[in-house]
Amino acid sequence: MAINETHDPNLRSWVDSANDPNTDFPIQNLPLGVFIRPDQDELPNIGVAIGDQILNLSEVEEQLWSDNFFDEVADACSYESLEMMLILDPGEVSELRRRVSRLLRADNKSDERYIAEGCLIPMDEVEMLIPHFIGDYTDFYASVYHATNIGKMFRPDQPLMPNYKWIPIGYHGRASSIVPSGSEIRRPSGQTMADGAVAPSFGPSKVLDYELEVGFFVGNGNEQGQPISIAEAENHIFGLCLVNDWSARDIQRWEYQPLGPFLSKSFATSISPWIVTTEALEPFRVPAFQREDGDPQPLAYLDSPQNRERGGFDIKLEVLILTEQMRQQNIAPHRLSASNTKDLYWTFAQMLTHHSSNGCNLRSGDLLASGTVSSATKDSQGSLIELTERGALPINLPTGEVRRFLEDGDEVILRGYCEREGFRRIGFGECRGRILPAS
Ligand code: MN
Repeated sequence: MAINETHDPNLRSWVDSANDPNTDFPIQNLPLGVFIRPDQDELPNIGVAIGDQILNLSEVEEQLWSDNFFDEVADACSYESLEMMLILDPGEVSELRRRVSRLLRADNKSDERYIAEGCLIPMDEVEMLIPHFIGDYTDFYASVYHATNIGKMFRPDQPLMPNYKWIPIGYHGRASSIVPSGSEIRRPSGQTMADGAVAPSFGPSKVLDYELEVGFFVGNGNEQGQPISIAEAENHIFGLCLVNDWSARDIQRWEYQPLGPFLSKSFATSISPWIVTTEALEPFRVPAFQREDGDPQPLAYLDSPQNRERGGFDIKLEVLILTEQMRQQNIAPHRLSASNTKDLYWTFAQMLTHHSSNGCNLRSGDLLASGTVSSATKDSQGSLIELTERGALPINLPTGEVRRFLEDGDEVILRGYCEREGFRRIGFGECRGRILPAS
């Protein structure tokens, strides 16, 4: 991928709201998503976010794109999910981006523009869906700050396990319970072992947490037994979204040894619905994490000059909370922390390469997530267990309420955006979820 005409910071769109300096969706972004209009009897459609509007790609395709060269791409646009889009060549996805960009530019006075105007739908009239069937979901543990913060709580003298700086640690998440932003999250029940108790008990989790993460979708997968090399890895990353890996810490604490998290996490995972393509993120690539002196260098299969120079992403992340009381008193969401994906110890290319290195076949549409993104400082910790030090340091909210962990009615809002001198700011939109009482 390279910087091209679609990244030009001077581009403006004839969709006015896309020119607002604060929008997440200027013409330089053009993320893909799948929506339905609840008030209409229709199948889901693929759209591109532009300002506060959605360009309905299936309608654009039907009315504008009939040339042969574009057949396969146009066909992918007419599906009810991103399933066929994911398996296009990266060059074809790039050509689609160029066409959409040209179509939406302010200086486009052609007939095409007037047809495209008829293919716009206001974002507030749609419901966003999971973009495609997700067969598998893997969650990594790529923030060394998060791993250290958590490790300290359980092993003060040896926070990081000896393998941490050698392999991207991960666990297999549950794909069936991934839900789009806005879906309500039912507080899970489970088995927990209270301090000093002689036997565990079963009931609603009392220690419910969020995890601020970024995930990526696999574009083209690999054959079983045919690992993806680090040199090829970027070609298999389709695009990124925000991920909230909801976590019941009391369930997790009792169940996690020896095989890792299970029911403490599998009840729900929320994702933001707009997939920001790696091409849109090209201006925000950064070198892989600068390891401290004395840290090992990655083994050869996880190392390449390209990964070292531009394997990272500079994505600013934040997490906010909106309690029931705040909602009633019309108080704006309260920011809990802010961090950045550039501080991840492992790059997405390394995670993908490592995942397939044993011959495991990754499939198109699989979701691989970063793990909690915490940066170095206290106010950059991406979960409540870190921020409150397992509940010891409660957080004060503007209503006078305090939070150690999530209460029923609390809504957690993740945001992500990229900014860099000389380029247009682009964003991910939001990933929201509100906690309902246990059933
Ligand atoms: Mn996680």
